[in-house]
Amino acid sequence: MDSVECTHCQVTMTSWSAAGSPMRYFQCPLCARTYASQYDEVFRARAGARRVESLSRQPPPSSLPVASPEDGRWATVRARASRWFTRLETEQRLVARALPPVPRAQALEARSDVAAVRPARTR
Ligand SMILES: [Zn+2]
Repeated sequence: MDSVECTHCQVTMTSWSAAGSPMRYFQCPLCARTYASQYDEVFRARAGARRVESLSRQPPPSSLPVASPEDGRWATVRARASRWFTRLETEQRLVARALPPVPRAQALEARSDVAAVRPARTR
């Protein structure tokens, strides 16, 4: 039988069931949140409570070959971060185009000097 952990306090919740009822109740000893096994989506979505296999209570993340909801959450965070970096890069490129750096301005000046010299040479 899996135990249920409070996702807020990371403690195992105490469980009980009413006599003659297939329903089980879980309560966190710290924050007193209570969940009923009837609402299984709470445990699946880990919205407040999650099932913990009693044998492998806290397996190291590296030994998990299957993507867990945490992995999915991390993938979302990584995707958001890479989008942010891409936007930052684009913005930096736009700023660089709008404000040319000093060496490029000097290069333009040098080119205009050459252009001013050229007509004198043709004369
Ligand atoms: Zn709790």
